[in-house]
Amino acid sequence: MRKAFPIALYLANLAAIIALWARHSGALLGAGGAAALLAGARLAGLLAGYTLLTQIILIGRVLWVERGFGLDRLSRVHHWNGFALLTLALVHPVLTNAAHAALNGLAIFDQVLFFFRTYPTVLLAEIGLILFILIILLSLGFLRRRLTYEQWYALHITAYAALALAFFHQILVGGDLIGQGAFRTYWLILWAFAVANVILFRFARPLYQYARFRTRVERIVPETLDVHSVYITGHRLERFPIEAGQFLIVRFLQRGFWCEAHPFSLSCAPNGQYLRLSIKAVGDFTRKVRSLQPGTPVIIDGPHGAMTPRLCRRDRVLLIAGGIGITPLRSLAEHFTRQGKRVTLLYGNRTLDAIAFYGELDALAREHGLIVHHVLSEEPHWAGEKGFIDRERIARLVPDVASCDVYLCGPPPMMALVRRALRELGVPRARVHWERFAL
Ligand SMILES: Cc1cc2nc3c(=O)[nH]c(=O)nc-3n(C[C@H](O)[C@H](O)[C@H](O)COP(=O)(O)OP(=O)(O)OC[C@H]3O[C@@H](n4cnc5c(N)ncnc54)[C@H](O)[C@@H]3O)c2cc1C
Repeated sequence: MRKAFPIALYLANLAAIIALWARHSGALLGAGGAAALLAGARLAGLLAGYTLLTQIILIGRVLWVERGFGLDRLSRVHHWNGFALLTLALVHPVLTNAAHAALNGLAIFDQVLFFFRTYPTVLLAEIGLILFILIILLSLGFLRRRLTYEQWYALHITAYAALALAFFHQILVGGDLIGQGAFRTYWLILWAFAVANVILFRFARPLYQYARFRTRVERIVPETLDVHSVYITGHRLERFPIEAGQFLIVRFLQRGFWCEAHPFSLSCAPNGQYLRLSIKAVGDFTRKVRSLQPGTPVIIDGPHGAMTPRLCRRDRVLLIAGGIGITPLRSLAEHFTRQGKRVTLLYGNRTLDAIAFYGELDALAREHGLIVHHVLSEEPHWAGEKGFIDRERIARLVPDVASCDVYLCGPPPMMALVRRALRELGVPRARVHWERFAL
């Protein structure tokens, strides 16, 4: 149901747009030649508009969409949907100019100039298109890697300007929307719905939550040399609707921190007293987390994430963590062992010093029966498991793996290797639940 509703809504609107287009422009298609090109151009324009709305919903942290898929998967769909948008947004002006040039007996270049002179919104739409092309080009792996996350994000924000330009262009000169009362009203409702969802979930909800829970930093506790836990308290936190395995996008309102919001997973099961985030120092923001002051207000966007206990259908659970990927699994371990499930944790690190929550995991093992195997790759004198979490090790340490629900979080190469190993060991895809630390 959580997935079915957003998918059904998406398909129903797609079908409605095509049906309305066919009613108004279908005859042009039948006429062939330049008229058919014009019909194609209109469809490409409408679908570009719809793909654009889908883009903002996918990345708008819209709760009822995110619940079924998880934000990391939605952000990957957003990435690929961007290429569909670019294709449609390029096809639309090419076909429009070709069709009108043929109908008016003009050369293509003269037709383009004519449009620019006569319809200012065409020029605005072209500026929007150039912005989209820039954003999409900069999202390509090799260019993206040259920018910091903050630079890339700031460029992405310009997409909202492009969105406004596209809207005015469509509503003022869109062939199927001018003079077609029902289609125009439907189109306006569609846009209003998408924009309202983004405003509500992306901007209003975090502020509302802050007003309601008054969340603030309580204390900072070191876990390892480069991992620090931030304890967040607030008013009536027992009502904060979070589940083990989920993550929050937090903004600390302290000088030097407030202009960036970063995602971090809950590293202990919800307890009504505090929310704990355990943060590894990897870059400029995370390196200064240890200097957060108690009392600092925290704006929380979330909770997000679909890797929750709800996905678990079995009494036997296997958790596989790599490095700081332990955080969501640490909260799930606590949740599942308290539920009385039989839980095994395979936890990979380079060295003994890098293990976060060693004592807490030990306590969960003693008091709640958690079975923990630490796997260390760069600790020659370690008496336990040495090397990496691979197929042979999973089969040996968890012989009943095929009957487990598996939760996985760690560095991407490790996750790819483990997912392949699990497939080969007979664990159905639907029982492997994983999350990447990348949006
Ligand atoms: C769903 C999820 C859960 C996470 N949970 C944890 C956790 O529990 N503990 C933990 O230590 N880390 C977690 N991370 C990773 C953490 O968000 C990044 O390490 C952190 O944002 C890096 O910021 P930086 O400026 O210090 O490093 P940078 O060197 O600037 O960034 C390193 C990488 O982190 C990502 N990143 C940077 N800034 C952001 C941002 N504002 N939003 C999203 N991604 C960003 C980018 O991929 C970037 O390449 C999680 C990430 C995600 C997506």
